[in-house]
Amino acid sequence: MENVVLLRYGEIHLKGQNRPYFERALLDNIKRALEEYEDIKIVKAQGRYFIENIEDDHRIYDKISRIFGIISFSPAVKVEKNMEAIKEAAELQLKEAMADRGSFDELTFKVESRRSDKSFFLNSMELSRRIGAHLLKKFPGIKVDVHEPMVTIYIEVREWAYIYHRLVPGVGGMPVGTNGKAALLLSGGIDSPVAGWMISKRGVELTAVHFHSFPYTSDRSKEKVIELCRILSGYCGAIKLYVVPFTRIQQELYQKCLDNMLTLLMRRFMMKIGEIIAIREGAGVLITGESLGQVASQTLESLCVTDDAVSMPVLRPLIGMDKVEIIDMAKKIGTYETSILPYEDCCTIFVPKHPLTRPKVDRVREAEALVDGKELIEEAVANVEAIEIKG
Ligand code: ATP
Ligand code: MG
Repeated sequence: MENVVLLRYGEIHLKGQNRPYFERALLDNIKRALEEYEDIKIVKAQGRYFIENIEDDHRIYDKISRIFGIISFSPAVKVEKNMEAIKEAAELQLKEAMADRGSFDELTFKVESRRSDKSFFLNSMELSRRIGAHLLKKFPGIKVDVHEPMVTIYIEVREWAYIYHRLVPGVGGMPVGTNGKAALLLSGGIDSPVAGWMISKRGVELTAVHFHSFPYTSDRSKEKVIELCRILSGYCGAIKLYVVPFTRIQQELYQKCLDNMLTLLMRRFMMKIGEIIAIREGAGVLITGESLGQVASQTLESLCVTDDAVSMPVLRPLIGMDKVEIIDMAKKIGTYETSILPYEDCCTIFVPKHPLTRPKVDRVREAEALVDGKELIEEAVANVEAIEIKG
């Protein structure tokens, strides 16, 4: 009896010619997520992958539950295709299910079989019936309920027989690498990691850009962003993080431009630098964690003024979400605890007292012309630090 994991992926996206491409990308993602387990073997079957030669270990399941493209998975056992072996495995699975539930009382169950090996001597119905009868005999007190059983014992007969009772939901989405690349403007806050996660979930590879205002922002705030990238890379693979020195730009804007436009001007510079790095990295779009109306720089007018700074499309996946919804998601994906660490962000340093909420793009452009933007941007880009981060 050998431990295996059965992975299910969505066939909906996998029509026609795209199919081999998606399957190959998913396979690469699975291998990457499990690369520390050198002895595993991955076997493909229809709409599924079996990971063989693997331990029954929650660390592995945690990793699998972060692979985009996996709809659900089942820790299973693999045995020879004979009734004795299948019966024994089914007994063990039922015992495990009972232990998970903490009680043997009034347990209801059913057996569900499928058979891709049509030469197996029993059809699916007959196999379920016989294994069900065996379990009833072995465990007096349990009952069959085909409609709403507490436990289902699944049997799949292929080259081998696979038996399991757990169906664990996967993260869903599409395999990373099937939908291009984007540059995420990543602050140390709650929102932008969630925004990056949402886009990556749709198959997009990420590179991250962080603006750092040393000495106003400390090394710890940089470490925090590195940690956020590390958490994200558990889902989407290695992330190249660019840390951009932003102090001089902020000081220049502070000295030369109108106070009430400060945040907007900073945001425009972030966009412009983000765009340059995106192009360098082969990324075609920018991602931000902005959500409509959350702060003055996120009104409709402000977002338009921000967009005006670049020609690259800007994706804002959180645009219609409330803060509580974003916080829930940050908790779910595991970035929240890091995001709320109290280290200051560059945007909290030079904050205008009365920020414009309905800026006019022409006025903002005029204000921006008071600094030598080209020179400032060139200097910042020349001094970026690139850090490769793996999960
Ligand atoms: P977050 O929680 O992501 O920090 P926020 O609600 O604090 O977002 P803002 O501070 O207005 O909102 O920032 C809006 C967006 O601008 C961020 O979501 C992020 O994409 C980008 N951004 C802000 N500060 C930085 C930074 N220091 N480095 C990179 N991107 C930034
Ligand atoms: Mg912020």
